[in-house]
Amino acid sequence: MTPPAHPALDRLIDAEQARFLREHPRSAAAWREGQRHFLYGGPSHWMRRWAGGFPVYVDAASGAHVRDIDGRDYVDFCLGDTGAMCGHAPEAVTRAVTRQIARGATMMLPTEDSLWVGAELSRRFGPRYWTLTTSATDANRAAIRIARMITGRAKVLVFSGCYHGGVDEAHVELRDGRVGLRNMIHPNAVAYDAVAKVVEFNDVAAMEMALAEGDVACVLTEPVMTNFGMIPVADGFHRALREATRRAGTVLIIDETHTLSCGPGGCTALHGLAPDILVAGKAIAGGIPAGVLGLDEAVAEQLWHIVPQVNPRQRQSAHLGFGGTLAGGALAVAAMRAVLEDVLTAPAYARMIGHAECLAARVGDLISRNALPWHVTQIGARIEIMFMPDAPRNGADVIAARQPDLETLMHAYYMNEGILITPFHGMLLTCPATSSADVDTHGEIFERFVGLVRDAGVI
Ligand code: PMP
Repeated sequence: MTPPAHPALDRLIDAEQARFLREHPRSAAAWREGQRHFLYGGPSHWMRRWAGGFPVYVDAASGAHVRDIDGRDYVDFCLGDTGAMCGHAPEAVTRAVTRQIARGATMMLPTEDSLWVGAELSRRFGPRYWTLTTSATDANRAAIRIARMITGRAKVLVFSGCYHGGVDEAHVELRDGRVGLRNMIHPNAVAYDAVAKVVEFNDVAAMEMALAEGDVACVLTEPVMTNFGMIPVADGFHRALREATRRAGTVLIIDETHTLSCGPGGCTALHGLAPDILVAGKAIAGGIPAGVLGLDEAVAEQLWHIVPQVNPRQRQSAHLGFGGTLAGGALAVAAMRAVLEDVLTAPAYARMIGHAECLAARVGDLISRNALPWHVTQIGARIEIMFMPDAPRNGADVIAARQPDLETLMHAYYMNEGILITPFHGMLLTCPATSSADVDTHGEIFERFVGLVRDAGVI
């Protein structure tokens, strides 16, 4: 439920947005110009969702910092909503991409880098048969398609508050106990009831009941939810989910696109999860568009049974209904190799997670010293500041307690003070280049933000 408007809070938001407009004249002008050419002002509609009222236009980004065309520098904890978790322009990726682009970006033929990448993916996430896509969205769509092919069932079970990309089946949520379209998603004539089921995260009984009906092709889930605030997983939930999906003959898809921030093999390696299909994307190729999905052997064999691996005579229309022309292209594969070999290494994760711990410790300390009804969660290299006392157990908890206006104020204030965080909620991510100074900067700005809202009587 959205809390009633607070006049003092409204005034603070207005003041921060006015300051933002004043201090970003070139970005403001660029944004006005963009309206003339783009459907939603910028090249992607996501880029309009910044709390200043318009996005900053980027001049250049390097490491954990972004500089805009007004000459302002930001400590970047948004990191392209995880797409830049490797940091901006990491040297190894820049080198590999520069080298490969001069040798051809895409040929509908594999390069030898792909052999190294396939082996490394299996080393990190467990032995699997991999296929590449151009995004995490695409990888999820492919995984769902495969699950439907091998089960002959249509429905996808997701957890309320999830986000898995432009995937119709996952655009559903529970509101007041009723299944509906995800907040702010407009209907597009898809009969969601025919293709989707949704239950609350961490609710074993509801999940088991939904699966017992025997009509679910797959469960699509993150290991912990990261897109609706951060919702930690309850003890035993993954075990129950794995057992229930096996009992029901339902494919378990774990989407590690964001939780790749938990370690070199995501939560799957960290917690010994056993997805039938694992999906990742975003940072996996250092910002070059790419996604991956890996099938465990049993699922791969079921698929090969339907569509055999090799059939040299069948060339026309020998497609599987997923994948794209650029999927697995030489450029993306070269970038992925550089990421896995030189950027998202075990020592890099240790640094990133250490910095996330420091971010969370400082925020947690300020919350408790000021007796604020807020909390901070840290999972791997990611933290989430939420304006509710305890970590939510599920989407319903988030819906009940979320304070969107306070979030808007924090986002606008942060941008004015020189920090970027993901524009959709209070999430901060570290990258290998994040420094202790960056972490300290956040602590100071968060402290000033607390002072701002306290002095205005908002809290
Ligand atoms: N899976 C998860 C868990 C995500 O958070 C997102 C995007 N936020 C996606 C998939 C989709 O990624 P993309 O938009 O890069 O396809």
